[in-house]
Amino acid sequence: MDRASFSEVLHFIDGERIASVDGSVIGNIEPATGEALGTIAAGGQAEVDLAVAAATNALPDWASSSADTRGQLLERLAAAIEDRLDDFATAECIDNGKPITAARQIDIPRAAANLRFFAGAARYQQDECYRTRLPDDDLWNVSLRKPIGVAGCISPWNLPLYLFTWKIAPALAAGCTVVAKPSEVTPVTADLLAKAAQDVGLPAGVLNIVQGAGAAAGAAIVSHPGIAAISFTGGTETGASIASVAAPSFKKTLLELGGKNPTIVFADADIDQALEGAARAAYSNQGQICLSGSRILVESSIVDSFTERLVERVSSMAIGDPLEETTEVGALVSSEHLQKVENSLQVARDEGGTILCGGERCAPAGRCSGGFFLSPAVVIGLDSGARTNQEEIFGPVATIIPFDDESSAIEIANDVRYGLAASVWTGSVDRALRVSERIEAGTVWVNCWMKRDLRTVFGGVKESGLGREGGAESLSFFQEPTNVCIRFDSKGPDSTDE
Ligand code: NAD
Repeated sequence: MDRASFSEVLHFIDGERIASVDGSVIGNIEPATGEALGTIAAGGQAEVDLAVAAATNALPDWASSSADTRGQLLERLAAAIEDRLDDFATAECIDNGKPITAARQIDIPRAAANLRFFAGAARYQQDECYRTRLPDDDLWNVSLRKPIGVAGCISPWNLPLYLFTWKIAPALAAGCTVVAKPSEVTPVTADLLAKAAQDVGLPAGVLNIVQGAGAAAGAAIVSHPGIAAISFTGGTETGASIASVAAPSFKKTLLELGGKNPTIVFADADIDQALEGAARAAYSNQGQICLSGSRILVESSIVDSFTERLVERVSSMAIGDPLEETTEVGALVSSEHLQKVENSLQVARDEGGTILCGGERCAPAGRCSGGFFLSPAVVIGLDSGARTNQEEIFGPVATIIPFDDESSAIEIANDVRYGLAASVWTGSVDRALRVSERIEAGTVWVNCWMKRDLRTVFGGVKESGLGREGGAESLSFFQEPTNVCIRFDSKGPDSTDE
């Protein structure tokens, strides 16, 4: 892929890729090398005003087009991504630091799948209709689903195009026009998507992308009176601030936030599978997934042998240039984030924890010697209440916490302010169901992790979020239902009842 295509990331407003009104830019750094990749147009109020005006203008035609027309355009956009899968995957790998295999096998196929899924889901969305017979009346109640208006979609850096499309696809399929903002840390694939949108002939103004910092472009989207709803994925503190800005104007918000998710391993589990599952859950994407299983709860009778094997497995993970096919662990997303994860490890030491392996800077020699690499760490010796077990680290750091029985496992699992996901490893169906029901989380996986069917609900409880995405939930977030109650004469003119 030609790196020149990264050198200038632009906004996409009213069908055109444009610079900021005042020409301002911010820098974009390659995580694997620490070197400059290029510049990003830095948007703010002026660019958001332009984007909202374009989206408002495009709304009547887009909202009144058929689900099939919209679906066909989304499918063409999906095909454009699939046709350039390698370019998109390479761009994601370079911009984010994630291994190329993950970008090629997970991120980019999922981005295309999001567009295809919602293209289909909108076509098959069911409308509600109730016949209501009363003693003196006969009524039909019909629910109309109207697109809510111009939608604001804001996404994070960890799964850049995957989560960007997870938001814009249902909004567009539901008939909304969109003003979206990818993370300023990983803006490149959204810019490639803008080019693809031009290529497939998405009407101007239907999808607008404002690039730039959260405090400028993001805040301007959230507070804009022309935007009816905000779908946000990112950190819990940012989510709280967005909710406080949106609430006074009753703007609809969907918030997908942070997690501190438990992986719970019972002694009756298939231990080989549980071990591999726990390792994948903790360290995939360098531990930078909201669903990461960063607390590994292990039944006391097997905790010593499990810990020994996990350390062995984690220590053998291939850390390297994200562009290499063999790399399992790539770079953290930025030098600031690397520093934040290192600070968390210092907190773990200060609290009396023991780091059994990892937690060291480990940039590979050569091209990546200036990159932001940290070896995956396993921490033991800390109570559930320790900061290390309470705060989201969002890096390649997992703790092991022993438990004695099912009740204490559930108690520890729920002993955090978050409630996004959990994975439970057991050979007993009864236990799996008992535990799943009592865990406070939006998603519980049993004997697996991060398996997704896009029809299922997705979201968090407690401080992990508000609302649900997935299938019908995603579509209905972007719609405003109106019930139309029609009284009709069911008896006809010849009736002698009246
Ligand atoms: P972040 O909250 O810093 O940023 C997310 C997005 O919000 C970015 O585009 C950013 O520019 C923007 N933003 C920042 N401040 C804003 C403001 N005041 N107003 C409007 N927009 C603003 O999060 P991040 O560091 O990019 O991502 C990591 C976090 O995201 C982690 O906490 C992770 O758990 C969470 N996350 C959650 C999910 C989920 O589905 N629940 C998925 C992925 C990541």
